[in-house]
Amino acid sequence: MKALLAALVLVPTLAVAQMPDFAKVQVTSTPVAGNVHMLVGAGGNIAVSVGPDGVLVVDDQFLPLAQKINAAIDKLSKEKIQYVLNTHWHYDHTGSNPVLGKEGLIVAHDKVRVRLASEQKVFGNPVAALPKEGLPVITYDNNMSLFFNGEEIRLTHMPSGHTDGDTAVYFTTSNVLHTGDQFIVDMFPFFDMENGGTVEGYQRNLEKLLQTLPSGVKIIPGHGPLAGKAELERMVAMLKETITLVRGHKDGGKTLEQVVAQGVPEKYKSWGNGFIKEAQYLEFLYKGLPGSARSPATPAPAPAPAPAPAKK
Ligand SMILES: [Zn+2]
Repeated sequence: MKALLAALVLVPTLAVAQMPDFAKVQVTSTPVAGNVHMLVGAGGNIAVSVGPDGVLVVDDQFLPLAQKINAAIDKLSKEKIQYVLNTHWHYDHTGSNPVLGKEGLIVAHDKVRVRLASEQKVFGNPVAALPKEGLPVITYDNNMSLFFNGEEIRLTHMPSGHTDGDTAVYFTTSNVLHTGDQFIVDMFPFFDMENGGTVEGYQRNLEKLLQTLPSGVKIIPGHGPLAGKAELERMVAMLKETITLVRGHKDGGKTLEQVVAQGVPEKYKSWGNGFIKEAQYLEFLYKGLPGSARSPATPAPAPAPAPAPAKK
């Protein structure tokens, strides 16, 4: 049983290699607020700003969906795509870059360009580099603003969270935030530790974001339905609770297999129905949190001999 459990935990999530049936995918559009619309198809959610300056797109899913994404944008505006922003490098958010990048300028964090320009690995599986026309042509190392369609669009680097190059995109007048995968709704998050992601950074980024967000903000998550502050607070509460739980287990000398067997609190079981399953999530926390994990098989070092009583 123990061996089986260990095998289950250590096998990489296969979902990464499973692609949707693109022929069946429909790309639909919903108005969010102000200039901003949200497109849903397969892969990461897309934000589209339309107005007098033209079209700005945040994330673009998979290459086979490029024509459907373009068709959905055409229904919102006949203007040209001026900018394509990438929240991070993952292929379910940047796949249509080579098509959309022929029309608009691709903008992303420095590290997104570096990762897109050469082969990467996710769960050990190779991900090919994008051709030149799919690479960002404007990059930044921390924050940047674009002034477009009558509002400031603020790009803020979210370091060492989901990956090392994530950006939160905030439309200041529309009061809409696109988080990329630095936030998803009621599902366990993915800390891409092969690509600079960390558990504690992910938590820290969200806590900071919560402090700065105005009330009434509409949040387009990386995956899942349109959300608000309440959903973000729910994610932060879940992270706090499960991180404290796993840290306690590690400090108590529990093995990864024991932590997985014990599981998350009942109220969070349904969070494992997304891309990251419960066992995988617990493995991320166990391996990703600093601490002195002791295996029960390894005896603790013998205590130092007591000092000789001082002479009176
Ligand atoms: Zn991602």
